Parts: sequence; structure tokens; C-alpha cells
Amino acid sequence: MFVIALKDLIRSIPDYPKPGIIFRDVTTLLGHSEGLKVAISQMAEPFQSQRIDAVAGIEARGFILGGAIADRLGCGFIPIRKKGKLPWKTIGQEYTLEYGVDVIEIHEDALAPGQRILIVDDLIATGGTAEAAAKLLRRSGGEIVGATFIIDLPDLGGLKLLNSHGIPCHALIAFEGH
Ligand code: AMP
Repeated sequence: MFVIALKDLIRSIPDYPKPGIIFRDVTTLLGHSEGLKVAISQMAEPFQSQRIDAVAGIEARGFILGGAIADRLGCGFIPIRKKGKLPWKTIGQEYTLEYGVDVIEIHEDALAPGQRILIVDDLIATGGTAEAAAKLLRRSGGEIVGATFIIDLPDLGGLKLLNSHGIPCHALIAFEGH
């Protein structure tokens, strides 16, 4: 059987967007028909047998993956966007970046209380973004069933942070270091 190596489909770009960071570029995987299909299937797999009411994807790469995963799980999709991008009334959540703070938002009516939500993004590093997403969804009454990523950077501790909030996590690939 031919087994596709997802890790080989990810392009690593040293010193982007700044010195010392290795940017893990998933556009090379997204552009590979078999790679994309395998990634979507594996990201969705642990949640296939659970009731999921909506996938919440984090801008921007979480939209591409999240839409496909929602289709596979037979549920809706909620976009989690950077501040100021959504057209209707929003609720926001601040989170800390290396320098300063940022804000993510959802529409105030994006989900109904009690809905079971799966968070999707391409990569988890410190976990700050996904943690903010979980807080935002919980403030709207959502129940977080889990979070799924292509890539984990385990040295930065993001999965452990989400686990500490009671969120089961799934990642397909790990890269050591930053
Ligand atoms: P964090 O909040 O630290 O977990 O960062 C996760 C978010 O930042 C995700 O939306 C990623 O797409 C992006 N990100 C962080 N570090 C990297 C990296 N080394 N390569 C590519 N994307 C990254």
C-alpha cells in the first residue's frame, strides 16, 4: 500500500516572518490532491463517531481545512476571524502575542448554547490562538469537543495548554523546535 508522508509535503521556511522562526508552510500540502485528502480525512477521523454540531475554523488556513472537515462530518462551519472582518454584531476575545495583544471574533449568533464544537487550525504553537478561540466559543455557550491540527510544535506546549482546559487535541505531525 502507498502511504503518503504528509511531513514531506510541508515546506519549512527559515527566518520567516522574522529571524529565528521556522515557518511551516502548508500551502504545498494543500496543493497536493492526495495530501489534502489524507490530511482532511485524518484530522476528522477521531471525531467521526461523535456528535459535532459545527466546526470552528481559525482564520485563515483553518477556513480551508475546517470547511472540508465540516463537510466530512456533516455539520456547519463557524469562521473565527481577526478583529474587524465580520459584517454582523460580534463578540471578541483578546489574546497575548509575543509583542502586544490581538483579538479574534465570531458573530454573536454564530452558535446556539449547548452546541458541540470542533476547533480547527493548520498549526498549534503556544496554543494562545486556539485557547482564545475556545474561550470565545464557551462564552457563547458552546461545548468544545476537541481541537484538530495538521502540525504541532510540541516544544511550545500548545497541546498541553489546551488539555489543561479539558480540550482533547489531535495533531497529525510534530516538528521539534520553534
Ligand atoms: P499559537 O497561538 O502560538 O499556537 O500560534 C498558532 C497560530 O499561528 C496558527 O494560526 C498558525 O497558523 C500560526 N503559526 C504560529 N507559528 C507558526 C509557524 N512556525 N509556522 C506557521 N504558522 C505558525
